[in-house]
Amino acid sequence: MNRRFFLITFSLVAFLSVNAQTDKKMEAFISNLMSKMTLEEKIGQLNLPVSSSFIAGERKTGEMSPLEQRIANGEIGGLFGMKGAKQIREKQQIAVEKSRLHIPLLFGLDVIHGYETTFPIPLALSTSWNMELIEREARASATEASIDGINWVFSPMVDICRDARWGRIAEGSGEDPYLGGEIAKALVRGYQGKGNDFSIANTVMACVKHYALYGAGEAGRDYNTVDMSRQRMMNEYMLPYKTACEQGAGSYMASFNEFEGIPATANKYLLDDILRKQWGFKGFIVSDYTGIPEMINHGIGDLQTVSARALDAGIDMDMVSEGFTKTLKQSLSGGTISQALIDQACRRILEAKYKLGLFSDPYKYCNEERASKELFSVSNRQIAREIADECQVLLKNENNLLPLKKSGKIAVIGPLGDAAGDMPGCWSVTSMGDQSVSLYQGLKDAIGSNGIVTYAKGSDLVADSLLETKLNGMMGFVIPGMKVKKIHDRKPQDLLKEAMDLAKDADVIIAALGENANMNGEGASRSIPDIPAPQQELLKSLSATGKPVVLVLFTGRPLILTWEEENLPAILNVWFPGSEAGKSIAGILFGDVNPSGKLTTTFPRNAGQIPINYNHKNTGRPHGDFESYARFRSNYIDVINAPLYPFGYGLSYTRFDYGDITLSAPEMTMNGKVTAKVTVTNSGPRDGKEILQLYIHDIYSTSTRPVKELKAFRKIFLKAGESREVSFDLTAEDLKYYNHDLDYACEPGDFEIMIGPNSRDVKIVKLTLK
Ligand code: BGC
Repeated sequence: MNRRFFLITFSLVAFLSVNAQTDKKMEAFISNLMSKMTLEEKIGQLNLPVSSSFIAGERKTGEMSPLEQRIANGEIGGLFGMKGAKQIREKQQIAVEKSRLHIPLLFGLDVIHGYETTFPIPLALSTSWNMELIEREARASATEASIDGINWVFSPMVDICRDARWGRIAEGSGEDPYLGGEIAKALVRGYQGKGNDFSIANTVMACVKHYALYGAGEAGRDYNTVDMSRQRMMNEYMLPYKTACEQGAGSYMASFNEFEGIPATANKYLLDDILRKQWGFKGFIVSDYTGIPEMINHGIGDLQTVSARALDAGIDMDMVSEGFTKTLKQSLSGGTISQALIDQACRRILEAKYKLGLFSDPYKYCNEERASKELFSVSNRQIAREIADECQVLLKNENNLLPLKKSGKIAVIGPLGDAAGDMPGCWSVTSMGDQSVSLYQGLKDAIGSNGIVTYAKGSDLVADSLLETKLNGMMGFVIPGMKVKKIHDRKPQDLLKEAMDLAKDADVIIAALGENANMNGEGASRSIPDIPAPQQELLKSLSATGKPVVLVLFTGRPLILTWEEENLPAILNVWFPGSEAGKSIAGILFGDVNPSGKLTTTFPRNAGQIPINYNHKNTGRPHGDFESYARFRSNYIDVINAPLYPFGYGLSYTRFDYGDITLSAPEMTMNGKVTAKVTVTNSGPRDGKEILQLYIHDIYSTSTRPVKELKAFRKIFLKAGESREVSFDLTAEDLKYYNHDLDYACEPGDFEIMIGPNSRDVKIVKLTLK
């Protein structure tokens, strides 16, 4: 036996046997514990209520609150929605010291793109195409959350979405399953550590959501019905959920939507057949918030029935609804569920606690001292800045208007221009929102005494004042007694006049427009995703001044920018960049940083094109993307087929030229490998980062295949004038798909291999699979 092979085999065997021993130890520990548990205590483990004590402990001196009493009674397996090491420690102490069997609690929270320090929203993060950076983001989020008491994060959200109307497109990684799958892995690695070893400091358990297909709701309306073929599901939506499982994600969250007429929360095919049996998932599955009783509205039964169906389908933990605590005992005595089902779910929750190390040290995640020093620290904010620098997409830059000179008079105009609280974006319940850096502040700091930056709001966010009040509330609604921001307190014409006075006096206008943070995320669907009317009117007036206007676009979804593309010289899409927003945007506007983000969602020309995605199928009557209307072809009378900005698109302050693709061989066998090479040259004036994308097209196959599918990508740094040959290895594995029988296989024949800077402008060669 060769020495290297021996060493690898030896290490593998050693690793597996250590794992097996740990598993055995865990199994024995849990079996022993469960042998002492009553039925009520077992059901208690399946219960995840929300804690109302988000900011401060709800404990009144001396007495236990009703929630605390329930913890002491063993009626609760975990809590979610709490923040603060001290408060969490208090609750954990009750579980460990006052409950009969001393079982510690899980503490879960929506740590989606940062904790106190906030990073760009997930959709923005995906536009970096930088897996190392994305892993770092998750690591930094996990570090802050884990010292503040959180051991379980409700992330990553890996739902593929092609519909700009859906508000939650902001929370995912866009429309492509391959890219989404790579990002899912990077995020799980970041949260759980490379080897999923929770004894390593600063790791937390990930929760992959929302399983499954939540991003495919009809008409982009949140929570809406999903219906598609199993083949489409496997080819176009499932990969990120699957790769997260392969990476070792510890838990999954079921989605709100139905699939094939059965809500995901009770869908045995999704939860049990695919996730557990086909993919071998060993962790636990939690319902989404009130996902169990919502099935009463879906119309599949009363609470008794839907709770039993959820457990039977594979849900182990009930988020918030108390469906399990209220019904499972009766279902057991009535024979609709078995004791074994309850035991299995209870075991999975206890295993998660065991793996997290909570039985040996229930307080390991509560580090008040570290929390006081490390949350929202200068160094974490520096990480947020570095990450934000790679997550903005330059959509247009006519005559190199950008970067701007760091001098002269700059007028920042628009309701998002001085909106620190909106910079963290939609999922930032724990973020230090108001301490984020606004665009206005960032520009002033960057220009210092070399120039003048002025600001005017210019318009309201939206025309409807009641709507704007809601959009300024906590997560989009107004809580009684909450201090509400003053809105619509000035006449639109006064706002406009003030803005125009500044604009006319400026050398350049920066229009800071788009959506505020609450206009995307959960429950924030829009039928026409564009810049709201009052802001568009403002933009038209600014453009009419004849001064150069740079649109700095804040959004959590692809917006319709057809007028803007035609009429403005420069558009920088910054999404919501997080705590250091203003600094990072200023860095790009002034050219200290060269933008390198590329879109991970297609931008439509109008709302009627939605859903729109690059990886669509051909019809029997295809029509060129840029061709004008033709009868009896697959096109529209009133708009061309091409999107406004294609998937993978984004500009830089420098220029990258692509040579032709060369293949190491024109043919490949089923077990073979072919290398595709391309030379990229930075022919512009600045150093920059470029994202090369490789797509395939299966020309003929038994089932129809998309016109393009991303199969590989590479982000590289090139100095001005530098060239580099980049190579991609292809094997039959890259050419496989789920066929009509749902077998993952590839078929011999011709394939187009395409490489380019985006999904539209590619070079093509032919490869034959033998
Ligand atoms: C959302 C989940 C989230 C949960 C807990 C639900 O409404 O769909 O994404 O993790 O609430 O906050």
